[in-house]
Parts: sequence; structure tokens; C-alpha cells
Amino acid sequence: MCDGMSVTRVVIAGAGFAGLSSALFLARRGHQVTMIERDGAPPDGAPSDDVDSWRHPGVPQGRQTHALLARARRILADEAPDVIAAFLERGIREIPVVVGAGRLEGELMLLSRRLVAEAELRRIVAREPGITMLIGDAVTGLQVSPGGAVPVVTGVHLRSGGRVDADVVVDAGGRRSALPEWFAASGLPIPIEERQECGFFYLTRFYAVRRGCQPPESKMPASMPLDYATVLAMGADNDTFSLTVTLSVDDPFRSALRESDRFDAFVRAVPHSAPWIDAGVPISDVSMMARIENRRRRITSDNGPMVGGIVLLGDAALHTNPTLGRGISMGLMHAQHLAEVVHLAVDDPAGFVESFSAWTDEHLGVWYDSQVAADANTLERLAAGVRGERVTAVDTPATRFAAGAFACAAHNEVVGTAVANMIHLFAPPHEAFGDPSVAVPITEFLASGPSLDRPPDIPNRKAFESMLSAE
Ligand SMILES: Cc1cc2nc3c(=O)[nH]c(=O)nc-3n(C[C@H](O)[C@H](O)[C@H](O)COP(=O)(O)OP(=O)(O)OC[C@H]3O[C@@H](n4cnc5c(N)ncnc54)[C@H](O)[C@@H]3O)c2cc1C
Repeated sequence: MCDGMSVTRVVIAGAGFAGLSSALFLARRGHQVTMIERDGAPPDGAPSDDVDSWRHPGVPQGRQTHALLARARRILADEAPDVIAAFLERGIREIPVVVGAGRLEGELMLLSRRLVAEAELRRIVAREPGITMLIGDAVTGLQVSPGGAVPVVTGVHLRSGGRVDADVVVDAGGRRSALPEWFAASGLPIPIEERQECGFFYLTRFYAVRRGCQPPESKMPASMPLDYATVLAMGADNDTFSLTVTLSVDDPFRSALRESDRFDAFVRAVPHSAPWIDAGVPISDVSMMARIENRRRRITSDNGPMVGGIVLLGDAALHTNPTLGRGISMGLMHAQHLAEVVHLAVDDPAGFVESFSAWTDEHLGVWYDSQVAADANTLERLAAGVRGERVTAVDTPATRFAAGAFACAAHNEVVGTAVANMIHLFAPPHEAFGDPSVAVPITEFLASGPSLDRPPDIPNRKAFESMLSAE
């Protein structure tokens, strides 16, 4: 504990990536943490047991591909380097950050089957002094006291019937957090929400690297857009990798692609994923993750905070379509900030909520906003692709500049480094591209009249449909 700081009693609802990392960062600053998690502990066993035997329905994306961008790894390196060491010991893969001709020196990213990394983090947090874990219980409501201008949350009610008092309650319940129900039951105002249904869903299959084979190098972004689909290929822990296909929810072939043989036939036909599947042996079925949305939830309005003593963390505050793999990095940024400022809540619970929300808007909202804009384009592309039509995504100055930046990154080191800084969440677009040393080469490149069109689809829509219709 730093001089002059008091111990804050923090209750965290939800032990996903954001909840677990904030518990660790808080406890290591001397705060007293109680975590409540609905789902049981991971098994003691090999990494594949974390995936195959851990019942963790609270994280429905558990069987999907997960990358920890360089920003997430940097925060872990600064706050809890032992976590990175344990990840590597467990077989989680670490790779350099390279985008075209650019490279982030000194930064790395981590690739893992989600549950392998989360299970390891959970074990570390469970051993950490200063953290009490109530596993197999759930937060069912809030304890609220009258405050000054607004009421103040002073603890949580548990499904088991108990109650835990706190100076700060953290909702880290993920995209399915029940915060609006808790607020309603306590007579608090309805949280403010923005939502955008993404209109597409994810199909993922995992593979083990075939003996004697070498899959291609993993890159971020890991995705390749076709007119009617997006295909992602990404390495993971212990010589495994995953292939993911994103389709429109309105695609009439969406069910057919869930069949393992057809899924493999399709990814083998796509040039981006073909070398991967040739190097792998399937180790899972095809898992689906549907109902993907972008959602931002706020408990402050133009009139100030609705309540004191509670903050929303990670996906509970804002989450985006995961194609760019930003969720865990954003959750860790949030967790680190919480640990730095949580002591301020004791004397001013409402002011703390207000300043935490403002920080969230400023530092995480920028990523949320850019994803919402990108997803509108993706949805339009997929919807047109299902009809056998093509939408070019470079018809406005902003999309043309972005496409030019990515194309220019392939051969220009300064631009490649700027794009890498943006992809890995070190700099938002206006910062990454605002400097003339980055903007000028992109503008000059665009002035040279390059073609920014995507190459023709392989397989094209007709071939995709006949592949999936064949008996
Ligand atoms: C298909 C898909 C792929 C993704 N890929 C990536 C990727 O490659 N890289 C990346 O960075 N991010 C990725 N993400 C995003 C990432 O999964 C989330 O951003 C991240 O898990 C958010 O962490 P969290 O702790 O906020 O929530 P979660 O990880 O969802 O954890 C919430 C936890 O709260 C528990 N809980 C909920 N309510 C209660 C309650 N009332 N009481 C007790 N416990 C409760 C749940 O059981 C769960 O354990 C992906 C997401 C999806 C959907």
C-alpha cells in the first residue's frame, strides 16, 4: 500500500479476464478483494483439460479463438509478470508484433485457446494473498444506502443468502451482466445503453499441428474478408490453432457450414486458410457463437452519476464484435486504471463513479466507436455477398485513407509501425495517423492511384453454395 492510501474493500462480481486481472492488480496494491464467480474452478490437469473438462457456461465465447494483443501483454508485464511466465510455462504462444514492414520493438502478443489462459489466470488469482474467492455463488442484487445527492452501493447480495459489504462494487459480469435487473430491484434509474446487433456469427474449429508440419505465422489482423464471409486463422497454445468463419445471420447456408466436413472443405478452398488446414488435425467440433453485438452501458447521464460506489468493468461496460481481438486488452486497460484510482472511492463514491465513467469514455470509447463504424461496413459487405454482389469498402475519404494505410504498411516501416500501434491499442487512429511522418506517405501512396479493391473471391459465392449444397 502506498503512503497515504487507505485499504479499499472491493467486491468483484465475475471472474472472467477483466475481473480476475483487476483482483490481482488491486490486491497487489494492498486492497482487500472479494470475488464472486458463478462457475466452478478449472480442473487440475493438462491444458487440453481446461478446454475439454472445464464447465464454464458464464463465458460462452470460451471455445472461440482468443489473442491477447500487445497492449494486454504490456499491462501484464508491468503489473504481473509472473502471469506471463506462467502462461509460457503452460504452453501459451508468444509472438513478435509485426505489421507489414513495421514492428513494435520490445512488444509481443500472446495466443491461446481462451480457457487455457483464463484457467491459468484463475489459479494464480486463487493463490494470491488478499483475495477471497467465493466460487459457485453469484451476485443477485445490490445493497444500497441513501447517500448525498445520489444513493450509494455499499455491498452485494449473494445467491447463497449472504451479503458482502464493500467500499466499491465492480460489475465484471461480462456481456451478460444482470446490472439493469439489480438496479431495477433497488429502485435505481435504468442504465443508459447503446446497442448494435452485428448481424453475423462465428464458427470456430481447433486443430493440432500435424507432426512434421509448420503452419503459417500468425498475424494481426488474422482475418481475410470475402464478399460473403470473413475467415480468420490464428495460432494458439501447445501447437494448436483455430480457423474461424464469420457469416451473416441471414445466410441460408449458415447451418450447413456447422458440419465439420463441410467446414473443413470450405476453409481448405480459401487460399488464406488452406495452408493452415493442411498443417493440422482437428481436435474439436465446430463451435458457434451467435448473438454478437456491440454494447456500451453507462451509469452516468448528463446530470451526473446515477449512483455512487459501483463501476462497470470490461465487457460489462462496453464490448465489441471480437474480430479484431480487442476485448481482453480493453478489459486489462480498465482493470489497471481501476487499481490506480480505486482508493478515491472511499471519500467520494459518487465522484469516483463519474470520473471512472469519464475515463472509460475517453480511453475505451474511442475503440468502441471505431468498431461500430467498421461493423456497419462488414454487415453491408456480408449482406451484399449473400446476394452475390460486391461492396467495396473504400468509397469515403476515411475508408480510403484506412485502406491506403494498410496497403502502404506493407512496404513502409513508419506506416507499418503506426498501423501496429493502432491494431494493438497503443494509439487510437487519430494519434497513430495524425503525425505528418505517417500521414504524408499514406497520402502520397494514395495519390499514386493504387488499386485498393479486394482480389476476386476464392471460392466465389456460387462455388461456396455448390460446395455446401452437395450431398
Ligand atoms: C467469439 C469471440 C471471440 C473473441 N476473441 C477475442 C480475442 O481474440 N481477443 C480478445 O482480447 N478478446 C476476444 N473476445 C472478447 C473477450 O472474450 C471479452 O472481451 C472478455 O472475455 C471480457 O472479459 P470480462 O471479464 O469482462 O467478461 P467475461 O470474460 O465474459 O467474464 C464474465 C464472468 O462473470 C461471471 N458472472 C456473470 N454474472 C455473474 C454474477 N451475477 N455473479 C457471479 N459471476 C457472474 C461469468 O460466469 C464469467 O465468468 C472474443 C469474444 C467473442 C464473443
